[in-house]
Amino acid sequence: MDELILLSFAYVVFTLLIVVEAACSYAWGRGYYRVGEAVSNISHGLAYQTLDVFTKVWVMVPFVLLSSYAPVQLSMDSAVAWIVGLIAYDFCTYWAHRNHHEVGFVWAIHGVHHAAEDFNLAAALRQPLIQQTFKWLWTLPLALFMPVPMFVGIVVFDFLYQFVQHTRFVGRLGPLEWVMNTPSHHRVHHAIQEKYLDKNYGGIFIVWDRLFGTFQVEEEAPENGVTKPINSLNPVWGNAVFFADLVSASLRAERWQDKLWLWIAGPGQIDRLAPGAAALVREPVEDNQLTGRTKVYAVGSAVAATLALAALILWGVSEGVAVQAGLTGFVVMSLLAIGTALDRHRWFIPIGAIQVSVAVALGAAFLVVQGTSWL
Ligand SMILES: [Zn+2]
Repeated sequence: MDELILLSFAYVVFTLLIVVEAACSYAWGRGYYRVGEAVSNISHGLAYQTLDVFTKVWVMVPFVLLSSYAPVQLSMDSAVAWIVGLIAYDFCTYWAHRNHHEVGFVWAIHGVHHAAEDFNLAAALRQPLIQQTFKWLWTLPLALFMPVPMFVGIVVFDFLYQFVQHTRFVGRLGPLEWVMNTPSHHRVHHAIQEKYLDKNYGGIFIVWDRLFGTFQVEEEAPENGVTKPINSLNPVWGNAVFFADLVSASLRAERWQDKLWLWIAGPGQIDRLAPGAAALVREPVEDNQLTGRTKVYAVGSAVAATLALAALILWGVSEGVAVQAGLTGFVVMSLLAIGTALDRHRWFIPIGAIQVSVAVALGAAFLVVQGTSWL
């Protein structure tokens, strides 16, 4: 529970930093932020964090179980042991990240993060909904020598470190760039120019990329996004679109071996295995088509969903299933409403109506419960 509260606090700080960065971008005319995409990115984060409330404990189960058979354990009291642990963890996440780019069905998970077309702190919160499904496999061997509290501490540090990499306000950092991952290196990782593709996978250290031939220094200004834009700001569709592309490519492929292999082969091989898939190019998102009213509604809904998630974390998890279902239902409906509003989809009206109905029902239930408790 303490860790959940700490995470909530981190999100408050993250939100404030995003507001400050967006304000600086606006004041100095940098154009680093568009309202629609920023709300979409934050909504992706809300979806991920809401699922995380219910799955956080489960993703740790394999690590904790294997840890009980560890032949040796790093000392929690030794600074050297922590550094060894950090290097070992970063080595594992380098390969996890690289494999998430090179294997088709895991790229379908990770691609969600890269679909952000504006590189800013809000994009850092664009975490894939099912990110933890396979990622734990790469760090599981650490359980053979790393105590669980050290692992959790390093995961939290890595989470904070990754957040601050997503900014264009920090330039080159001199000798630090020889060893550490930096915003400059990470801008390259998110770029879609040919020379930048599949480069700079390092999380905390960049030495792995230098060692294993995936390093690229930032030269011309990176263009952010994915080579095939998803043309959607919907956080629900945003998590499904890469899988939809794989299904579409599977149907298009002629040989049954290719239909299966393209789920494993990297995204770069899709067009060879499923000829014609390259023709299905979507346009980048045009945020400037949104009306002021839509933007205000989307921002308001994101704030309301954030408050509902905070209530779920701080209060709902210790309450009954009905409270959890009500708060989770409101967050889910808000995310659907935000997505359909930003995409100007015709389903916005019914979904928005359900969102408001759930909000009214939650408010009424809260008043009834408070009313009876006062009797
Ligand atoms: Zn990546």
